[in-house]
Amino acid sequence: MPGVDQTGEQPETGLTPGAERGDFRDVLAPNHARRGKPPLHLADMTDEQRIEAAKELGLPRFRVRQLANHYFNHLSTNPADFTDFPAAARDDAARRFFPELITPVTSQVADQGMTVKTLWRLFDGSSIESVLMRYPKRVTLCISSQVGCGMGCPFCATGQLGLTRNMSTGEILEQVRAAAAAARDGKLTRGPARLSNVVFMGMGEPMGNYRSVLAAIRQISALPPEGFGISARNITVSTVGVVPGMRKLAQEGIPVRLALSLHAPSDELRDELVPMNRRFNTTQVLDAAHDYYLASKRRVSIEYALMKGINDQAEHARLLAKRLNHYGDDWAHVNPIPLNPIEGSRWTASKPEDERRFLEILHSAGIAATLRDTRGSDIDGACGQLAAKAGQASGQSSEPSASGTPRTDSSPVAASVARKA
Ligand code: SF4
Repeated sequence: MPGVDQTGEQPETGLTPGAERGDFRDVLAPNHARRGKPPLHLADMTDEQRIEAAKELGLPRFRVRQLANHYFNHLSTNPADFTDFPAAARDDAARRFFPELITPVTSQVADQGMTVKTLWRLFDGSSIESVLMRYPKRVTLCISSQVGCGMGCPFCATGQLGLTRNMSTGEILEQVRAAAAAARDGKLTRGPARLSNVVFMGMGEPMGNYRSVLAAIRQISALPPEGFGISARNITVSTVGVVPGMRKLAQEGIPVRLALSLHAPSDELRDELVPMNRRFNTTQVLDAAHDYYLASKRRVSIEYALMKGINDQAEHARLLAKRLNHYGDDWAHVNPIPLNPIEGSRWTASKPEDERRFLEILHSAGIAATLRDTRGSDIDGACGQLAAKAGQASGQSSEPSASGTPRTDSSPVAASVARKA
């Protein structure tokens, strides 16, 4: 069966390689890894586990395929829809294979109904969020892969939460199923649509939850009834630069796009904006990103949140162009992202003229670059903002533990939701 890790390795805790030594340590929420494991879902099970679970319910193995068809093809976990099933077995099968892993808490709508951001509650009371965005030619879902994030980027709302735990494959996939059903059922302006793109750019560092993310990618891209049938070429995995994960992903032979959140062209500046840079520096992450391009033949996205007076000046654009051109032509596409400041931040978005100049310098150096539009700027559009608010309201930790990296700024600014498009 696609996706489920069958190596028997220990579950990942969400810590990235080298997390407990060196200049940067993962930022952990006080309740890190103390939340227990979510119930096992069809998406988490191996073929053998699925057959065994069916057997326990007195069901023959062909029923497993029917259930997978309901889930991946019809996007349903509702026993009332299982009309090809014996009526007496439907409720038990739904309970066993489709435990409720994510529950909607609130939704915020923006961009005339073309953007919907949803806050979800998980089985243990944790909060995560996903964002569904309609564009003229595609419908994109931005999903979370961890509860909180251990990377500690000072401009990011999620980074302020610290890492609580990894999400299971089932929890990750449930965001996709819910969004695909919402798009199909016309919940976005302009009527029914097909979910076409998935980006791992919500809460969390996907490389810190590698096995569950990979299993999710496989099931998002496999054809029904093995998966949702969304082309791997339309899946983007972002990373802050966890080099071992980038290199491992390059070897999987899956043509997903890699997005590297660079945000700064020099180690001096990136050490401050992206603390993980103290573990894997700009040379190491750009080397790995270029190697990913060579292995996948897919241009790498370079994400760059523009912060006024911090990283948006002409010298930053020139250095960025030089660093990228060092590896040759046309291997990367830069996405400068206007910052969507969060409340109380002392940092603000770049001036429009600085954004334009930044782009012009990249273009004149032969670098492909597109300024992202700002989806969700009239809602809590930045990553982790809804969840951060929910966490504060419910007492969920919003403070990283002392084991984490020192804060460089007590008034964080989050990158715009637009970076997730
Ligand atoms: S920007 Fe991304 S990697 Fe950095 S703290 Fe936020 S979610 Fe984590």
